[in-house]
Formats: sequence, C-alpha cells, structure tokens
Amino acid sequence: MTELIWNEGMSVGIDAIDEDHKQIIAILAKLTTAEHGKTSEQTINTIFTELEHYVTLHFAREEALLEQACYAEITAHKASHQKFIEHLPTLKQEWLTKDCVACSEKIITFLHQWIVKHILVDDLDYVSTVYKFSNSANREKDKNQHQPSFIAKMSQALSKKITLSQRVFITTLLPVIGVLFLSFVILLNNNKDYKNVSLILGLNDVIAQVNDISHSLQAERGIASGLTSSRYQNFNEQLSARRLITDKAISKFLVLLSSELAPSVQKNIRLYFADVQNEFTELVKHRKKLDNKTANFSETYQAYTHLIELLLSVSENLTHVEMTSQLANDISAISSVLLFKEYMGQIRAIGMNAVTAEKKDLYSHFNISLLVGKQLNTLRVFHYSANKEQKSLCTYYCNAQIHGQVLLQRFSNIMNDYTLEQRSKHWFDLMSEDIDKLKIVTDGLTASFERKVQLEIQQLEQNNYLIIALLSLFLVIAMLFSLVLNHSIINPIRQITKALNNMAQGHKNIQFKESLGADDIGAMQLAYEKLRRKLLQVDIFQAIVNRQKNEIEYRKSQQTHFETLAFTDALTGAVNRHQFNKVLAEEITRSDHDQLPLSIMLLDIDHFKQVNDNFGHGVGDEVLIMFYRACKVAVRESDVVARIGGEEFVIILPKTNAKNAYHFAERLREKIQQLEVIIDKHKIELTVSIGVSQWRKDSFSSSEEFVENADKLLYQAKDSGRNRVVV
Ligand code: GH3
Ligand code: MG
Ligand code: MG
Repeated sequence: MTELIWNEGMSVGIDAIDEDHKQIIAILAKLTTAEHGKTSEQTINTIFTELEHYVTLHFAREEALLEQACYAEITAHKASHQKFIEHLPTLKQEWLTKDCVACSEKIITFLHQWIVKHILVDDLDYVSTVYKFSNSANREKDKNQHQPSFIAKMSQALSKKITLSQRVFITTLLPVIGVLFLSFVILLNNNKDYKNVSLILGLNDVIAQVNDISHSLQAERGIASGLTSSRYQNFNEQLSARRLITDKAISKFLVLLSSELAPSVQKNIRLYFADVQNEFTELVKHRKKLDNKTANFSETYQAYTHLIELLLSVSENLTHVEMTSQLANDISAISSVLLFKEYMGQIRAIGMNAVTAEKKDLYSHFNISLLVGKQLNTLRVFHYSANKEQKSLCTYYCNAQIHGQVLLQRFSNIMNDYTLEQRSKHWFDLMSEDIDKLKIVTDGLTASFERKVQLEIQQLEQNNYLIIALLSLFLVIAMLFSLVLNHSIINPIRQITKALNNMAQGHKNIQFKESLGADDIGAMQLAYEKLRRKLLQVDIFQAIVNRQKNEIEYRKSQQTHFETLAFTDALTGAVNRHQFNKVLAEEITRSDHDQLPLSIMLLDIDHFKQVNDNFGHGVGDEVLIMFYRACKVAVRESDVVARIGGEEFVIILPKTNAKNAYHFAERLREKIQQLEVIIDKHKIELTVSIGVSQWRKDSFSSSEEFVENADKLLYQAKDSGRNRVVV
C-alpha cells in the first residue's frame, strides 16, 4: 500500500502519484519549449512517445491503487484515462502535418488543461477514499496500538445524531436534573421528618396530660390507702378534696382526646380510649365502695394502680412513631422518670399500710423491695437514654443510692418516733413532698422536650427554605451558564462557519465586527483572519501578475505592429522590398544547406498605367490591393509575397523547382485573368506577365543576379505579348 505523506510541492498528497504528475509536467515542458519549425520531426516524435509511455504507466499505477481502495467512481476515472491515451496519437499527427504555430500552441494548451484538471479535480476526488482505506489498512496492522478510545467513539456517534448546541444543552441540563432530583428526595425526606416531629409535639401534649392525671390519681391512691389502712378513721377530708382535683384532670384529658389531634395520634389513642373509659367507670364504682366503707386496702390499691398503669402504657405506646433515635431516647428518658414516679407513688400507698403494721423492716412489706428494684431499672434506662439537659433537671431525684437509703431511714424513724395514729399521716406527707417534687421534674422534662421538638420543627422549616433558595440559585446559575456557553461557543462557531462559506464563495472582504474571545474560539477567529489575508494577498498578487501580463501583451502587440510596419508595404500589406531581400537571402542559405530547390516569380501587371489614366490613382491603388490578395490566397503558407515596385511583385517559393513554379505561375496568371474587377459598372480586364527563375548556386553569384534573371524573363514575357509566363 502506498504510504500517504502530504507533499508540499504537489496537491494530491500521495508520493508515487505526485511524482508521476511531476514527470508528466516535465515532459509537457519539453513539448512547450520545442519551437515550431525549428524542432525536427524526430524530436517531436520522441517527446510524444515518451509522454504516451509515461502517461500509460501512471494511469496503470493509479488505477491499481483505486481498485485496491474500492473507489466508487473508478469506472468513470478509467474511461477518462482511456480517452486521453487514445487521443494522444491524433494530437501528434496534427502537430506534424498541420505545419502552423497556432496548431501546436492549441495542442499544448489542451494538454496542459487536461493535466491540470486531472491533478486538481479528478485526482483530488479519490484522495479521501484512498486515505480512509490506507488508515483502515494501518489499523488492521496494529489493532492494539491504535484502537479509538471510548470517548472518541462516543463523540463520533454523538456528532452524527445531535448538534453541538444540543450537546451543550444536555451537558448543562444533566446536572440540573440531578440536583432537582436530589433536592426532591431531600425535601420529601424533610417533609416526612416534619410530619413525624409535628406528631411527636402532639404526643407530648398527651404525655403531659397523662402525667397530670396519674399524679392526681397517685395522690388519691395514697390517701385512699391511708383511709382503708386506718379503717376509715383518717384521710376522709383529704380524699374528697383530692377527688375534685382528679376529676378536673380527667375532664381536661377527655377534652384533649376529643379535640383535633394528629390522625396517627388519634388512631393510637382510639385503641385505648374504650379501656380508659371503662377504667374511669370502674374508678367511680370503687369510689362508691369507699364511700360505703366496704373497700379494703388491697382492692383499693389494685383499682388505682391498674388505672394509672393503663394511662402510663397509653403514653408509652404512643411513642411508636417513626422518629430520630435522639428524640426516641428523650421520650424513653421521660417515660422512665414517669415510671419511677409511679413506683414512688406505689411505695407511698403500700407504705400507708405498712406503717400501721408491726413489722419494723420496710422491705419485709408487701412488694416494696420489688418496687425499689423496678425503680432502679427505670433509673438505669434514664441514665442510658437521657440527654444532658434532662440529666441536669433531675440530679438529685434520679440518684438511686440516696433514694434507697432515705426510704429505709424514713420508715424506721416513723416507726420509732411516732404513735400509730400519727404514722400514716406523716409517711404520706413525707412521700408526697418527694412525689410533688418529682412532678415538677416530669413537668420540666415534658416542657424541655416540647421546646426541643419545636426547635427541630423550626430547623426543618429553615432547611426546606434553604434548599428551595439554593435550588433556585443553582437553576438560575445553570441557565446563565448554559446561555453563556451557547453564546461563547455555538454562536462564534456559526459566525466563523458563515464567514468561511462566504470566503469560499469569493467574498474575502468580510471582516468580523468584534473579537469572538481570547480563548480557543479567538484563536480560530485569528486563524480565519490570517487565511483571509493570505487569500487577499494571493488575489492582489494575481491582479498584479495579470496587469503585468496585459502590459507585456500590449507591448508585444505594439512591437508586432511596428515590426509589421517596418517589414510590410503600407498599401497592400505585402512584404516590402527591404524585407524581401532579407528573406530571399535566408531562403537561399537554407536551400543550399538542406539541398532543396528554391524558385521565385516576378510579376508585373500589364498596362497598369491605363487603369490609372482611365479610373484615377485611387482605383489603381484598390486594384493593387485586390491583386495582392489574389496572390496571397493562391500561395502556400510558407511562400512569401513581396511588393518590390509600383505594380511589381515577387513570390518566393521554398522547396519548389522551376517546373513546379511554372505550373503554379500559370495557374496564378489564369486566376488573375479571371479576376472580376468591376469599378463604376466598368469591368477592368487585368492580366499579368510572370518571369520564373530557379536558384542555381553555380549559375548565380548573388541574390540580385537571381532576381535580375527573373526580371529578364519577365521582360521576355512582356515582349512576347504579355499575359504569359516565361521560365
Ligand atoms: P506594361 O507594364 O504592360 O508595359 O504597361 P504599364 O502601363 O504597366 O507600364 P509601366 O510599368 O511603365 O507603368 C507603371 C505605372 O504604374 C506607372 C505608374 O503610374 C503606375 N504606378 C506606379 N506605382 C503606383 C501606385 O502606387 N499606385 C498607382 N495607382 N499607380 C502606380
Ligand atoms: Mg506594368
Ligand atoms: Mg512595371
């Protein structure tokens, strides 16, 4: 396969082909410099043979290459080659037989034009095909080294399907879509969090209410325990006062339950609603039993505890809402303190009964040790889940060790220091004091939790606004960026393409009104500008060359004109006497050198004086011109017609002997006789006498003698009656 290397000297770019073209042009140059008439037939023959040989060789080489590359237009290309080769012998024949300068110039022009078209038009058409083939052949050779990259393949495929502006648009659109999607996911998630946190806020309300009711019920349980333990002797007044507070809390709770709560809170509450209602009815029943003094300690304790635990379990179950682990821990901490407080209440109630018994050890009493153990558990849960603020809210009350010791101390003090009647009242007061303080702690906990949740809601709202603001900003920037990209890449490329197209159509004066940038696009614009100026330079150069060429041609024509004036006779245009002498001397030399015959004819119009006398000098001049034209038409291209006197002419006949010259003179004489010269309706009879002489090197010492001889013969013709030829 021919290696393709760009060749600065020629245009095709394939070395072997370009070398051929150079060779052909060199042969053509030989033909161009072969001067017509001076170059021998043999030389012309050789040049044509060389041209034919080389062109045939080149065409064969080119056709083989095109076949290899599977060029689609190969048939037409081959046909043009064939036509040219077939035409070459005709051209050669024409050159040799048509013995004229114009003919050979025409042949040279044709050959030049054909070769230039062949190189610049026909051959350039197949170059891209051959290049492609050559590249694919090279790829086959070293497949691994020149595999096109994935990016290159992708760009190739994309450039076929979508425009550059669409590609820029997609490139900016993709991240926008990505960010939109991401923002949507974040906003969705935020919204879910927002709903959950709002739910937790509602939940906290319920927990606070449960805290209130259970606190009052705990107090009522303690008082009722004191009542039953003292066989209805003490706590009668306190019980009715406490009942009023409890009833208030219960009605407030019922109002909350019937109010508009978050759907999922309401759904959870509805599950317990019937149970809670039932238990409230049971409470009313038990209160009646207490009023009737029929209830004992154990059933009283159980009735209240059952209701309180149910209420606490309601609040605990409400926490089964999806939330962050942080909030879940906070709620666990609150629940554990609520439970701790409830166990405290249970210890208070049992203690009311214990202080009336004779047992001196608190832990030997009904379930007390179990409750203290449960309290320890709730404290452990609290320590694990509570946050800093929660821990600081209950530093003292949540200290398990102090609590256990205080209880034991309190119990033994009461048992030792007070009478049986005083003991339960004192126990109730001491325990209530602790429990009331715990109530303050739980209230503080729920309040702080509410603050925290509200803060979280605010944070989520702020996050949403921030995301929307950032998203809008990003969209605006992305749109701006897309517009800027479009403006700074696509528009300039379009402008440059338009300018290049204009330049291709010949509009080379179009200049950009503004700079298209300082980057790669700017460089492209600069390159365009350089190219434009180069082409303008070429145009200007071409114009200068053309002007010079025209000037040279004009001068040449002037020169020819003056030369003609110097060599020719002004009236007829025939060669003048001076030039005739020169040409005749040259022809004699050539004739001697080439050993070819040479003859001259001397012509004198008969009775020309009469023409002048009868019709005037002007008519005489016209007749002279007509006579010259008749001679000029009759002679060969190589013959020379000269006017050497008033109505005396000479014709030089190279390569002609006397015999042929005589025949030719006879024909000319007859022709002149038959010439129709009509002036003012009068026919002028025109005849000529001719003396013919052949050059003989040994007979004549000079050209003058040669002409004198012809002149003698001419006078013989005149003497013997005119209108005749004498050899
Ligand atoms: P022949 O040659 O047959 O003996 O008769 P002829 O009348 O031609 O004789 P001759 O040679 O003596 O005359 C030549 C005439 O040609 C004389 C002159 O008036 C005329 N003549 C010469 N030069 C010119 C010219 O330039 N123009 C015109 N109109 N006549 C010319
Ligand atoms: Mg005459
Ligand atoms: Mg004469």
